Amino acid sequence: MRTDQFPSEIRQSVLPEVAGNYSYKCLGCGGRFGIDELLYTCPSCGSVLLIEDTEWERLKNVPGPEWRKIFDYRRMVNNPALRGIYRFHELIGSIIPLEDIISLGEGQTPAIAANERMSDWAGIRFFFKNDGQNPSASFKDRGMASAFSYLNFLIKKRGVRDVLAICASTGDTSASAALYASYLAGNVKSAVLLPRGKVTPQQLGQPLGAGAKVIEIPGVFDDCMKVVEYLSENFSVALMNSKNAWRILGQESYSYEIAQDFDYEVGDLAVVVPIGNAGNITAVMAGFLKLYDLKIIDSLPAILGVQSEHANPVYLYYLEPEAARRQFRPVAVRPSVAQAAMIGNPVSMPRVISLVEKYRKIAGEGAVRVVQTSEQEVMDSMLIANRNGHIACTQGGECLAGIRKAVAEGKVEGNRRAVLDSTAHALKFAVFQEKYFTNSFEPEFEVVPKPELQNMPFQVDLPDSVPNPGKGKLESAEFLQFVKYASGVVAGHLDLKGRGK
Ligand SMILES: *Cc1c(COP(=O)(O)O)cnc(C)c1O
Ligand SMILES: [Zn+2]
Repeated sequence: MRTDQFPSEIRQSVLPEVAGNYSYKCLGCGGRFGIDELLYTCPSCGSVLLIEDTEWERLKNVPGPEWRKIFDYRRMVNNPALRGIYRFHELIGSIIPLEDIISLGEGQTPAIAANERMSDWAGIRFFFKNDGQNPSASFKDRGMASAFSYLNFLIKKRGVRDVLAICASTGDTSASAALYASYLAGNVKSAVLLPRGKVTPQQLGQPLGAGAKVIEIPGVFDDCMKVVEYLSENFSVALMNSKNAWRILGQESYSYEIAQDFDYEVGDLAVVVPIGNAGNITAVMAGFLKLYDLKIIDSLPAILGVQSEHANPVYLYYLEPEAARRQFRPVAVRPSVAQAAMIGNPVSMPRVISLVEKYRKIAGEGAVRVVQTSEQEVMDSMLIANRNGHIACTQGGECLAGIRKAVAEGKVEGNRRAVLDSTAHALKFAVFQEKYFTNSFEPEFEVVPKPELQNMPFQVDLPDSVPNPGKGKLESAEFLQFVKYASGVVAGHLDLKGRGK
């Protein structure tokens, strides 16, 4: 809709304006630092940073119901900058002018209701929010749209030049960073560091296709991360991992979309996220807390974090009920089908600790839970989901296994509605489906295929007496002979009934 056709009371605010004053805030020492220079850790104490709007309180001049109206009307605006995560411009990047926003179609992903069979199986009504429907097929695009929009702003308005965007990745961060960098062709080059043999062929193909310099390193993600951290501290590069606090801001859009899609009534929801480097769960909690602070929602949803037994440091941390006695210990990861979350030393752990404390203070101890699942449960759940109309990746399967367990153990009430983050598209993780179907998992995965979930193509073989189109072009009579024979075999295999002519 054209903006001059909106109701007069909304016309003023339906297009956001540049406002606010953003700065880095250190979670260790509380120090504040300007954002003109890209920072990843605190220059005084080395802790991780979040970005805050020091003029945030101004947003409270607009009452909650008014904000809802603004965001809902903004859905109808056809300005390309506002069709993605920046529909929520005031909450995630209000200092960036609309003309500098980079949007490749990220965000605004659908929440698909599970059918009755699935809900019964899980013990709870639930939705998959399909973040695999983002441009590079994972939720990472939300954070990259934010980080690259800010980078673009620095390039256009502050004369920043010759940027090398660099990241370590379990596969999806690099796919996303390479895509956004390639869009800024000329101004930004990108390099990605991957753990050799620990990303899927699809995830490796993505940054290669986008023209990034792809560097494979022996070890696991945590090792790549250390190299990238060293590079970002000692060389002039733009770090695109979720240590970059702009990523977190963009990923908050996930919560804003859930709120909007559920008409801002989220108090009875359980929002389920897989945890790897813990940037995502940080952003999800931060997003809901912001909405609550502005009275856009009047109660907080429950949050459920899920980890695999093979990469479970956050789960282990929260096993200790007493906050004062909790101690964070990195773990050595083991092979996991939830490979995108196969991280033993999450960079955002200090952010998680700080936000869980805030969240629980408002919504109660039970409002944030972490469960762990077996690899078997993750794989089975993914396949069951995909047999019921979903496009869940292995991490989406992890969420489903996690909510099912949490409900069974009474950690999430079964009368809630759950929203499960399918963080990537199933197609990215096709290798694990293949391993399952062909029973070729390496023993370390500890996955044994269930025959009823396996599936293989049925082969139509032709005897020598039947003409074979695979061996060359057939005459029409031969071709008919082939069609009749093959149809007979297929009809037999599918047990088809004749039309009774
Ligand atoms: C990155 C990623 C995760 C883990 O998210 P964190 O923010 O690192 O916790 C989960 N699933 C997919 C598909 C990912 O790409
Ligand atoms: Zn500090």
